[in-house]
Order: sequence, then structure tokens, then C-alpha cells
Amino acid sequence: MNGVLGNFARLSHFNYDQNGKDWNVNTGRQQSPVALTTAKAVKSTASELIFINYNKALSRPLKLTNNGHTLKMSIPCAEDCSQPAVCGCKLKSIYKAVQLHFHWGSPEKKGSEHSINCTRYDAELHIIHQNIAYALKENALCSWDGFVVLAIMVNIVEVSLSSIYIFMTLTTNRSL
Ligand SMILES: [Zn+2]
Repeated sequence: MNGVLGNFARLSHFNYDQNGKDWNVNTGRQQSPVALTTAKAVKSTASELIFINYNKALSRPLKLTNNGHTLKMSIPCAEDCSQPAVCGCKLKSIYKAVQLHFHWGSPEKKGSEHSINCTRYDAELHIIHQNIAYALKENALCSWDGFVVLAIMVNIVEVSLSSIYIFMTLTTNRSL
């Protein structure tokens, strides 16, 4: 798996070595990557984020695509035709999950887009959610509230083949 990730990393045209300072992009207060620190964190009074239909199996087949920059997957509806989504917290709408993709580095460099307390992670999973107020992606792209991205930090660990077998059994046997 690391070899595959390493090959993808070599195709990347950008990295996070300088936390984005070496990128030729517009800057602003909402620009990624973000260096999160608990010392500057403010306790929020917002309600919890609510996950809708996240526990349901997605309709298959699932199709992963290598676009030369990342590994991504469009998120289909669930087998019962419901759509995974999030709401609550400070969100004023429901946001349906539409796509996921990964950010990663190489065996020598960490690949997470963001950092937490100066720690970078091996990889970062982004789950893109589109505001249901916008039927078309193009309209959502033009709106400040068009999308919500959930970022999940990933550390790569070695696992035994038997652990993978148990995991695959659990995820493919719906009666469990
Ligand atoms: Zn991303």
C-alpha cells in the first residue's frame, strides 16, 4: 500500500512542506492549509454535528478514481436510496456527502493538509458535503456556504493479514 501511495505522491504537483507558503495561490483568511493549535482554540457553544445515514451501506459498485493528484470517489446514495449527510453545529442547512478524496505524502514526508499542534499526519481524508439548497454543483461552487468538508487525520499502521480478513468479514457480512 505504501508503494501505491508513494507512486501517487510523485504525481502530485504540490506539497505541504511549507504549509502552503510556497504555493502560487490567492491568500485569504479561509485559505488551506490550517495550522490548528489547542492553545488558540475557543470553546464553542454550538450544538453537536449530526451525522445522517452515515451508518448505512452505500449502493455498489463503489468506484475509486486516480485523477493524477489524488484518489477520489463519488459518494453514491445508500442501498435504501437515502443519502449520507451532516447538519447541526453551526450549519444552517443539510449538507449531503458527495465525494471523498485523500491527501498523503511519502515514506519520507507526512501528507496531511492540515496540522494539529504542529503535528502533521501520514494522510488526511476529506469528505465533501454539498449544501442541499443548491441542486447543481456549479451553483454550490459559487456560494460561500456551498460545501462543508470533514477532515479526518490518518496515521498508517501495519496490520496482520488476519486482521484484514476479520475487517473484511465484518464489513461484508450484513448479518453481523
Ligand atoms: Zn482535500
